[in-house]
Order: sequence, then C-alpha cells, then structure tokens
Amino acid sequence: MSPKIRRLVKLLSRLPGVGEKTAQRYVLWLLTADDALSRELGGELTSLRDELGPCARCGNIAEIKDGRALCDVCADGKRDAKLVCVVARVHDLMAIERAGSMRGRYFVLGRLLSPLEGIGPEDLPIAKLIERIRSEDVAEVIVATPPSVDGEATALLLKRELSPLGVAITRIASGVPHGGDLEFADPITMGRALSGRRAL
Ligand SMILES: [Zn+2]
Repeated sequence: MSPKIRRLVKLLSRLPGVGEKTAQRYVLWLLTADDALSRELGGELTSLRDELGPCARCGNIAEIKDGRALCDVCADGKRDAKLVCVVARVHDLMAIERAGSMRGRYFVLGRLLSPLEGIGPEDLPIAKLIERIRSEDVAEVIVATPPSVDGEATALLLKRELSPLGVAITRIASGVPHGGDLEFADPITMGRALSGRRAL
C-alpha cells in the first residue's frame, strides 16, 4: 500500500464507528469515484473548523462570523430566554429540536459527571451555567441529561449547584428508555418526556 493511502486510512479510522477496513474501503472508493467528490470533501473539511465552532453562549454548533459564534437557537428572538434546557451533548440538543416542543434555549455541558472515567464536577462548565442563569434572569432549568448512571449523577450535581439560585429545576420525564441515548428517542417520546418534566 502506498504511504499516502496508509496515512489516509489511519486518519479516517480515527473517526467514530470507522475501523481500518472501512477506512480502506472509503479511500479505495474515493480513488475510483468521480474525482470531484474527493476534491469537494477535502475543501469542506479544510474550512470546517474555521467556519463552525461552539456557540459562545450555549455550546451548540454555530457559524463563526467576525470571530464570534452565536447559534441559530440563541439568535432566535422568539425563544423564551427564561427557559434553559441543559443537555450533555449537541446530539441531544438536535434530538430535542427535532421533536419541536422546546420553546426555550439550551446549555450544552459537553460531558457528563463520570467517576469511572475520572470526570469530576470541576470538569463541567457549571460556573458558566450559573453565570448565564444570573445574567439572563432564567426562571426554569430543564435538566435533559440521559437517563443513565452518569446522566442521573450529573442531574443531582446540577440540582445541588443550582438550587441556591432560586431557579426552578425540572427533570425530563421517563419515556426515554433507561440507559438509552436521547439521540435515538423518537419525536413523540421526546415531546412527552419534555412536557411530563417534574421538579428535580
Ligand atoms: Zn447558542
């Protein structure tokens, strides 16, 4: 195998869900398919990190304009600024948006509390969340971390840290399967989980 192919296979196999065999299949495919495909793919990948980044306010994916990133949800003036939904990952935010029943805005933690993986409270952006709640006069925080061990531990941590602020803290109802990923919940289940939220 040429060193160029080996390098590309190695890079592609670092993507989630792509093993070495699949990576090799991709490279061979790109070499035989219309050459516009690999050129276009290369161009998009080159500019990806310059044009998109985490939203400065909520952590959602946003377009970077004039060195500043503000996502579509944060820029949407019709959203209820007093309602903030806390999620673990951008995938979860997208799943909730697909369900279409969330009228507030979001805050992406980026990770969950996980003693097993050595992720402690200091590794989560709690101070940034508290600052946001204070500065935007948020009335309710919906905790939409997944119903897993780490998701529940994170929900309890948020309750402990946010309770002194006097903000209402609610947790999405079950309906999302235990241990399941929010990403795979269908829109109806997600809608019910949100509307059936209760005080945490
Ligand atoms: Zn945002």
